[in-house]
Amino acid sequence: MTEEQTTVVVVGGGPVGLILAHRAHSAGVPVVVLDNRDATLADQADYGRAGLWEQRTVTTLTKFGLADGLLAQGTRHPAFELRCFGESRMVDYGKWAGGDVASYAYPQLFLERDLRAAFSAANGDLRSGATVFDVTGLDEDDVRVHYRLTDGTTRALRCAAVIAADGSQGRCQEFAPWGAFTRHHSTYPVGGVAVFAESPPPSHGTVYAASEHGFAAHAIRTPTVSRFYIQCPPTDSVDYWPEERVWAELDRNLAVDDGPRPPAPHGRILHTAIVYMRTHITEPMQYRAMYLVGDAGHAITPMGAKGANLGIADAADLAESLIAHYNHGDKGALRDYSRRRLTDVWQGQAFSRLLLELFSPPPTEDIVGLRIRRARIEEIVGGGPFSEWFSRRYAGIDE
Ligand SMILES: Cc1cc2nc3c(=O)[nH]c(=O)nc-3n(C[C@H](O)[C@H](O)[C@H](O)COP(=O)(O)OP(=O)(O)OC[C@H]3O[C@@H](n4cnc5c(N)ncnc54)[C@H](O)[C@@H]3O)c2cc1C
Repeated sequence: MTEEQTTVVVVGGGPVGLILAHRAHSAGVPVVVLDNRDATLADQADYGRAGLWEQRTVTTLTKFGLADGLLAQGTRHPAFELRCFGESRMVDYGKWAGGDVASYAYPQLFLERDLRAAFSAANGDLRSGATVFDVTGLDEDDVRVHYRLTDGTTRALRCAAVIAADGSQGRCQEFAPWGAFTRHHSTYPVGGVAVFAESPPPSHGTVYAASEHGFAAHAIRTPTVSRFYIQCPPTDSVDYWPEERVWAELDRNLAVDDGPRPPAPHGRILHTAIVYMRTHITEPMQYRAMYLVGDAGHAITPMGAKGANLGIADAADLAESLIAHYNHGDKGALRDYSRRRLTDVWQGQAFSRLLLELFSPPPTEDIVGLRIRRARIEEIVGGGPFSEWFSRRYAGIDE
């Protein structure tokens, strides 16, 4: 087995791992990224996963010199439309959050391609087709990350810090001693049909609808592709959702009574999936020289579009801490990483759960529950203190 040495090994070349690696590498910290996908990402679905980047993420990407594609091709949205029991209201979250605030719509895959190109242009060391199968020596401060290449050969990298950026299904944290990490799980009793279609998006980016039928949404992915979402029982499968049913339920759930509004254009459906409202958080987010970032540390429901944004906040924090530690000898920055990030992560979870409870009622909802939910949603659009709090959280500027 061949062995090399570096300072930081990042396991996982998703958006979170690559942003962290790019920042640390640019500051002169030696970094190697190991990722088990192929180099081109050719096998990935084109529009799946995240697509709404909050203010804080855009600020981070801009600061790290990684926002050119997003700013050039993404679309800026300081407001969304909320269809609340048939009434259409605008949520001016940019204004209510304090002024020049907005989110950007840009597919995750496009961002990942930009990140790969930028890391490669900066001579970053990204090894694709490299699957990590063990991490040894954490308790001995003699860490080795073991990986297998696509031709079956195995290698090891000795390092001072290993970053688990291997996503929700990643196994990196299992390589730490038993008891080092605890993962908490929770499932909310609703599901969602997530559809990508060649339909023009709404002009202001996103429409959310809450009603007695449950939650529905119509959101921009690109100028020609929309993502639709319809609440469904968590036991549904895509077989229950042929095209005609998708459009019929969207027409009903996105409808408004207070004036004519054309239904969302029925374009060609590209992809349908059932998503589950599951979350998990691992505590703490570090054990000796192993640090968890992004979905490896916490995954959240799609409500509020916080998942990738929280992960990028992890990456920004940990990259600066690694630079402070390895370039400037500041021992405190890395020590407190988990404590700092968990506060923000739990707040993100709380926001997402609040939206779930407001927009996606469980099947047992009674009339009182429905009226309370409606009263709370009306507070969001009211422009008062709850609107301001909601707007700051939604835009990610107060977390
Ligand atoms: C259907 C869906 C919709 C979503 N919508 C949103 C949204 O609207 N907004 C939002 O903010 N977030 C959303 N998310 C979440 C978002 O996609 C994730 O938060 C984001 O991808 C996390 O990035 P990551 O880099 O932590 O992990 P990932 O993107 O999962 O990347 C992990 C990487 O590690 C690699 N890897 C795994 N194991 C190994 C190993 N053993 N060795 C080497 N490499 C390994 C993987 O192949 C992958 O490349 C959505 C997710 C899904 C699934």
